[in-house]
Amino acid sequence: MDFSFPPDAVEFRAEVKQFLADNLTEDMIVATHDGTIHSAALHRAMADRGWLSGAVPEELGGGGRDPIESLVLIEELQLARAPIDAMGVAIVMVSMILEHGSDFLKGEAVPRLLSGESLGCFGYSEPESGSDVAAARTRAVRDGDEWIINGSKMWTTMAHVADYVILLTRTDPDMAKHKGLTFFLVPLDTPGIEIQPVHTMGTERSNATFYDNVRINDSWRVGDVNGGWAVMKTALKYERGIAGGQFPSPPVIDAALDWATTNVRVDGSAVIDDPTVREKLIRAMIDVEVCRGFAYHTASLASEGVMFGVEGSMTKLFSSESYKKHCRWFHDMLGPEGLLTHDEPDAHMGGRIEENLRHSPVTAIYGGTSEISRNLVAEVHLGLPRTR
Ligand SMILES: Cc1cc2nc3c(=O)[nH]c(=O)nc-3n(C[C@H](O)[C@H](O)[C@H](O)COP(=O)(O)OP(=O)(O)OC[C@H]3O[C@@H](n4cnc5c(N)ncnc54)[C@H](O)[C@@H]3O)c2cc1C
Repeated sequence: MDFSFPPDAVEFRAEVKQFLADNLTEDMIVATHDGTIHSAALHRAMADRGWLSGAVPEELGGGGRDPIESLVLIEELQLARAPIDAMGVAIVMVSMILEHGSDFLKGEAVPRLLSGESLGCFGYSEPESGSDVAAARTRAVRDGDEWIINGSKMWTTMAHVADYVILLTRTDPDMAKHKGLTFFLVPLDTPGIEIQPVHTMGTERSNATFYDNVRINDSWRVGDVNGGWAVMKTALKYERGIAGGQFPSPPVIDAALDWATTNVRVDGSAVIDDPTVREKLIRAMIDVEVCRGFAYHTASLASEGVMFGVEGSMTKLFSSESYKKHCRWFHDMLGPEGLLTHDEPDAHMGGRIEENLRHSPVTAIYGGTSEISRNLVAEVHLGLPRTR
């Protein structure tokens, strides 16, 4: 078994590191404290390098960069704490349009999304349906060449800065749950759309979006009428795969290591000399290596042309659950100082551990909750019987 990276991936990693040294500023990271995890300048710079199109599979008409290199890109961006919410959305949304969309949509939206000129957001979840996304109730009713959309979506992250929402609607309420669904790509400046902020514990801003008699031409439909579930499966495949976040812990571990090596206890002993602190640091570093193992295993399957399935859920599950655990451990280690937030001048490393502690729970919710991931692993990987 050869665990070394292909030479192209090693070279690409160096290119990404240099790009980040040249383009990512501390101001861009600090700006995310307003809740929008996006930098227009950084997003455009990545698009200019062809990194968005590169991550779209070649068989769909994308750049087809080796999935191992795409994962190297994500890993380096996350290690540097780059604000990249728009990147994953662009890659997944373009893949959905290329796999299921019309020539009109491919010409209209794909070049704009891949150049960074336009941004997208996902409109799947509703107040009454998240994990059970196929229970969506937002209605689309045909009216000649147009559709009239009414309903509401919850957690439409990035909608306040995006140009398009890819919207899951119910077009036939009499068909079985998974069958009466249809997707549309809806420009967010279409009359009848209202966007309201939803601020989260983790600083991140999301949105509730409301659709009141929104008229959209049939040319904006993605996939077949009542064929929305096939489009959804494409989205989940890419979202749970290499586009997911697998490396959130290392910046937290860096902060914990810095704290432990620069602080002393009341008895004068160095924090880093405490065996329980050392054990937690080492265990966290081991977890990160396990995460890398899961993630690069998934990417190498994709690289060999094997479409991953449950492997993406296994990666996400281990990564988000261990991230939550690391944040709790290291926040405890800081004691009362862990309560200082990023706007406090004395906060250690800009309040990084505290901020991650608040952010970490959501990583086990969006993109498929940990419970849903465990169900998938149990049923698909372990072959256990369905429980629902
Ligand atoms: C900050 C944030 C950003 C988000 N961004 C977006 C976005 O951009 N676009 C979008 O469409 N959605 C987005 N989401 C929504 C996200 O995908 C859902 O929150 C998630 O799928 C869970 O759905 P829910 O919140 O309705 O919880 P529910 O599905 O109601 O789940 C509640 C609890 O029950 C558990 N549960 C549910 N079903 C099962 C089951 N079958 N077996 C075992 N346990 C179960 C869940 O794991 C969870 O613990 C975002 C969410 C958050 C919090």
